[in-house]
Amino acid sequence: MFAYLDHAATTAVCPEAAQAALEEMTAGFGNPSARCAFGQEAAKRLEARRAVLAQALGCSPEEVTFLSCGTEGDNWAIQAAVELGRRRGKHIITTAIEHSAVLEPLKALEGKGYSITRLKPDKSGHVSPDDLRAALRDDTVLVSMMLVNNELGTIQPVAECVRIAKAFSPEILFHTDAVQGFLKVPFTVDELGVDLLTISGHKIRAPKGIGVQYIRKGLKLPPLIRGGGQEKGLRSGTEATHQIAALAAACQLWLDHGDEYRAHMAELKAYALDQLRSKVDGLEVVSAGDAPHICAVSLPGYPSEMLVRALSDQGICVSSGSACHKGKPSHVFAALGLPKRTLMGVLRVSFGPGSTKEEVDALADALAAIRNDRVGA
Ligand code: PLP
Repeated sequence: MFAYLDHAATTAVCPEAAQAALEEMTAGFGNPSARCAFGQEAAKRLEARRAVLAQALGCSPEEVTFLSCGTEGDNWAIQAAVELGRRRGKHIITTAIEHSAVLEPLKALEGKGYSITRLKPDKSGHVSPDDLRAALRDDTVLVSMMLVNNELGTIQPVAECVRIAKAFSPEILFHTDAVQGFLKVPFTVDELGVDLLTISGHKIRAPKGIGVQYIRKGLKLPPLIRGGGQEKGLRSGTEATHQIAALAAACQLWLDHGDEYRAHMAELKAYALDQLRSKVDGLEVVSAGDAPHICAVSLPGYPSEMLVRALSDQGICVSSGSACHKGKPSHVFAALGLPKRTLMGVLRVSFGPGSTKEEVDALADALAAIRNDRVGA
């Protein structure tokens, strides 16, 4: 059977999103900047879709800027915050378990004389608000802390850290990469208190190539792309109206059915952990995950890449960590200080609203067989 348990890497586009994109590409292909009626209709639909995203984020539509992906949003947030804070200092705080879309631009800034503090997680995969408090300096301009870790499923204490950072200095900007948290864990931007927040469509059953930056009202960010002045002059370029249509359609499904989806994923994850523990000798749970859709396990002594390939040969898709790492041991699991044998055998299992018990059973049975074959060999 085909079992797809890698929803944190990407998700299938839901029919509602695909249909919305198709209609926008064919019947409603107008340019929202065009003055003709056709263009103006496209502009109206664009704004209605912005309102759906705003509803999901708990913000106003003018705080929603469309962009191409999570990576673009993370890069922009960091570059813009640094630019805004350039007279105040060159210190940035982040965590050691961010996605490379945050870590790489920060590494580039380090090469330009910025000082980066990377907060380490505890063994359970959570960073500590006290560590953030201790790291704050008079020259800190930005904190970038993800909401849900993409490999562990742990929820980071973003709201508490925002309060600590803002109490230290209201001028410190706070960005969160909410690519894995959006709609999987309920939040509003006001509850979090962040200035900047990044999301990506392809994690929520919209297509790849669409994302959103939430920018708190009043924050004057330098533009990401200059040109025709679309997206309030912040990100020029004709809007990808079909992608935006699909994103809003997928988002609307989560708004209508999110409680059901989240409960289903949480139940399935608990079932998976139970099945894996009971059927696969020696399997360790590395992270049960706070978010409903991600957990990580390890089969010490069995290299992840070998496991992923062997499972894939049987039609079962899981990941050896973030899909962006392509075979290198993950910095996230390494940051937990796991023993080498455990670290090298890690698998991320992640769920979507349509995941089934049969898929979980297929994974547990296949892993048990791989394990028993090796033991018997
Ligand atoms: N941030 C996190 C936490 C992610 O999991 C991902 C994708 O895996 C990204 C950022 C990058 O998003 P995108 O693939 O839309 O560029």
